[in-house]
Amino acid sequence: KLYNQVQETKGNIRVFCRCRPLSKAEVSAGYSTVVEFDTAKDGELGILSGGSTKKTFRFDQVYTPKNDQVDVFKDASPMVVSVLDGYNVCIFAYGQTGTGKTFTMEGTEENRGVNYRTLEELFKIAKERSETFIYNISVSVLEVYNEQIRDLLATSTTSKKLEIKQASEGFHHIPGIVEAQVHNIKEVWNVLQAGSSARAVGSNNVNEHSSRSHCMLCIMVRAKNLMNGESTKSKLWLVDLAGSERIAKTDVQGDRLKEAQNINRSLSALGDVISALASKSSHIPYRNSKLTHLLQDSLGGDSKTLMFVQISPSEQDLSETLSSLNFATRVR
Ligand code: ADP
Ligand code: MG
Repeated sequence: KLYNQVQETKGNIRVFCRCRPLSKAEVSAGYSTVVEFDTAKDGELGILSGGSTKKTFRFDQVYTPKNDQVDVFKDASPMVVSVLDGYNVCIFAYGQTGTGKTFTMEGTEENRGVNYRTLEELFKIAKERSETFIYNISVSVLEVYNEQIRDLLATSTTSKKLEIKQASEGFHHIPGIVEAQVHNIKEVWNVLQAGSSARAVGSNNVNEHSSRSHCMLCIMVRAKNLMNGESTKSKLWLVDLAGSERIAKTDVQGDRLKEAQNINRSLSALGDVISALASKSSHIPYRNSKLTHLLQDSLGGDSKTLMFVQISPSEQDLSETLSSLNFATRVR
């Protein structure tokens, strides 16, 4: 019901909001919750923004701290499965550092996230359709840091410069990037692990580094329809974005300032692209950042986009929470 309504009014962009639980540290420090979930099942979220003021935001779905990975994936799965029907798809997690972007996308071994569940689902459906289709699935893992693309599956240590090229039929690709063929979920797990460990190389603080770079998983699906001989190629991007928190210019200098500026630039470029798409603008500014340029095939046209806005319930994060919710509102 909601699905259809959203389909009609907004085309192919959907926004799900997920709030993490208060952490143990926040509980023991006595921080209170500023998020109200009374109407969460209707996609509504209240933010107690000081005094008696309450701001209300509407999304296609709202997940409270009680919702688990299964709840979240249940709503995302129709979208990921459409990549097997030839659609390009993009799912990304946006929000302040520490709000659960990585938890939603990557998850943990006990609480697997969207990335793993997506591939598991793709293999399952591909098998069900094996009398009609031959599917070939491959995975690339990359990172965008300071407007530079790094291949996390590359085995050679010589870091060659990776650039985005557009093929004659319009498809964007990165010449030289590793595309790992995967045949089952076990192979996927190995690839994802390899990507994660490569991410840590060369950074002295992994958590800090990952909060300042975009981690991007690209799943390529090549399908051959055995009934009519037709072949299609489609792409699914799963993106764990850099933290959206504002860094005051006065707090950082040099490399850190450049880093912060590049994050702001790519996240605002993403907001600009999605709001241009939502308002059916004739010019979509994909070229303003590496992030949007990479995602171009999977944002707009008949592709499907899902954004997770991740938020913290804690009072001390209120201003970042409002800024993330406003970003998300802008793209609806
Ligand atoms: P981010 O990637 O946005 O910086 P993380 O995914 O690293 O945030 O999450 C920060 C912490 O909160 C982690 O310890 C994570 O396990 C925990 N966390 C986030 N979301 C949830 C959730 N929905 N349920 C339980 N724990 C969560
Ligand atoms: Mg993270």
